[in-house]
Amino acid sequence: MSIPEIKQKLSIQEVLENYQIPEKNQMCRCPFHEDQTPSMQIFNDSNTVRCYSGNCPQSNKVIDVIDFIMYYEKLTKAQAIAKASQWIGLATKSSYKEYQELPMDRLEEIFYKM
Ligand SMILES: [Zn+2]
Repeated sequence: MSIPEIKQKLSIQEVLENYQIPEKNQMCRCPFHEDQTPSMQIFNDSNTVRCYSGNCPQSNKVIDVIDFIMYYEKLTKAQAIAKASQWIGLATKSSYKEYQELPMDRLEEIFYKM
């Protein structure tokens, strides 16, 4: 399984649910800045979100599921991929720990073989 396939398997909806971020009319309050009114749009088609607030460090960036996990939990990209793979059932608890330590290219190699 390649990393794009992992992204396909994990929907942005599931990620928001996991972090208990309520959605209304494809909008939600952005978790990356102090958001009083929902500034983040959810794009189910492309499986991404985007925050329109100028006060946000992630303002106007297209954020996919991996990026969302990475920013939300302040992880590296490799750690976020390990986390995503755990959510979709690819990684067990122990392999997840192992994956977190791995460099990105090694991680890509492992998932590609799955
Ligand atoms: Zn924001």
